[in-house]
Amino acid sequence: MSGLANEHDAINLSQGFPDFLCDEKLISLVEQFMRKGLNQYAPMPGILSLREMIAEKTEQLYQSKYNPETEITITPGGTEAIYAAITSVIHEGDEVIVFEPAYDCYAPAIELNRGVPIYVELNPPDYKIDWNAVKKLVSQRTKMIMINSPHNPTGAVLNANDIRQLQRITQNSDIIILSDEVYEHIIFDGLQHHSILKYPKLAERAFVIFSFGKTYHNTGWKMGYCLAPAELMKEFRKAHQFIVFSANTPIQHAFAEMMKDPSYYFGLSEFYQKKRDYFIRLIEEVPFTVTPASGSYFQCVGYENIAEVKDYDFAIRITKEFGVASIPVSSFYHHGMDYKMLRFCFAKEDSTLEKAAERLQKLIKKKSR
Ligand code: PMP
Repeated sequence: MSGLANEHDAINLSQGFPDFLCDEKLISLVEQFMRKGLNQYAPMPGILSLREMIAEKTEQLYQSKYNPETEITITPGGTEAIYAAITSVIHEGDEVIVFEPAYDCYAPAIELNRGVPIYVELNPPDYKIDWNAVKKLVSQRTKMIMINSPHNPTGAVLNANDIRQLQRITQNSDIIILSDEVYEHIIFDGLQHHSILKYPKLAERAFVIFSFGKTYHNTGWKMGYCLAPAELMKEFRKAHQFIVFSANTPIQHAFAEMMKDPSYYFGLSEFYQKKRDYFIRLIEEVPFTVTPASGSYFQCVGYENIAEVKDYDFAIRITKEFGVASIPVSSFYHHGMDYKMLRFCFAKEDSTLEKAAERLQKLIKKKSR
């Protein structure tokens, strides 16, 4: 969709990335470390000072202790962390429970390792998990359950009861949890992020994955990290070592410095909630159906009042004819389940959102038959 947006000079609210600059301080820190000569391979698990900062943050935010030497690894983005975690524990025939719609790297990572994704479908408008359905799918073959909160693409957020249910279903089992928490700091309306790190019974067999790109507005730097107990992390590093070996050196040094100021990420929910609210207000007159996202920087909308075509076709149409690109939510379901929903990324300058909304105003209600 980004390609199509460029081709048609459309405003690109499709792919998830901010169109504003990251903090100037971060850019000058990277430059500083490059000029200092820190341009060669970092240690395989990442530079120690950054792992120490992450351990400190984890303890402060989630009251959870991770040993920087043995339980924290810096990765080139959350995506590599997800791939390495899956590769380290999933073998032929192992089943992995995946909630759909899902971020698009999950199933390929499972399948490349000859694992079997077992899909649980989540439905609009609230995309709640039916834990009884999950329970029925759990068997001796279940090796892993993947969760993602706040959720891409739907903006849904897991609550304390969801975590209790997950705990109930996996207790007395060896099922590993992969918790994708890349949007940990982007959560709205006073909701709390229920990190798996806060639940020791789950954390003791979990990979928990984060991304600097989402928190510091630089998705193109591809930087993230994984936390896991030592035994799991030992396996993780065996895969990570030969997938990529290590992540970008000067940027690691810059983040280690940047993380000394936690006020940065504490302001993120408020920053993005304002953008969500503004975007929703701007498209108020468009006959979309909107359930405000509870987290992430994505807002899904239903267009059933406007057209009956497939979401894929509708997304292409509004890119070409109206000049606004989005992502059809069916692309996040392996069977292309089509609830006539589009995902818009609101991590954009207000002026970009205004221009997009102005164009979307031209969408009118379909005539009733
Ligand atoms: N998980 C989710 C849910 C995401 O939305 C993304 C990025 N779109 C990632 C993981 C990957 O993060 P990164 O860009 O750091 O690889």
